[in-house]
Amino acid sequence: MSEKTIFKRIIDGEIPADIVYEDDLCLAFRDIAPKAPTHVLVIPKKEIATLDDVTDEDAALMGHLWIVVRDVARKLHLDKGYRVVVNCKEEGGQEVPHVHLHLMGGRKLTWPPG
Ligand code: 5GP
Repeated sequence: MSEKTIFKRIIDGEIPADIVYEDDLCLAFRDIAPKAPTHVLVIPKKEIATLDDVTDEDAALMGHLWIVVRDVARKLHLDKGYRVVVNCKEEGGQEVPHVHLHLMGGRKLTWPPG
């Protein structure tokens, strides 16, 4: 059996995280190495390795994650705006193989990303 990802261990409560939102389907917690003053990861509790592995059956779940991003952004007062990023697989810069949305804000972000 393959090893649990770090995010699965957070979902299972095996390692601590600064959780800002949780429901039956997902978890939102602060990134351990923030790239912006506010940097939160929104993840499904369902284990999906990458965006490329999302199926049609996951459509409602993925839509829910976007609603949670919106609500967390409001809760954390990102009134001036924010960015949402999904890194997908090696060339996309993905390090943790559990799909996640990066919510970043609190400063003027530059474009394009590197
Ligand atoms: P990726 O590069 O896969 O898109 O992003 C993974 C993110 O997870 C990185 O921004 C990294 O800082 C964050 N991260 C990695 N390990 C941990 C951890 O143990 N706890 C938290 N809160 N974030 C983590």
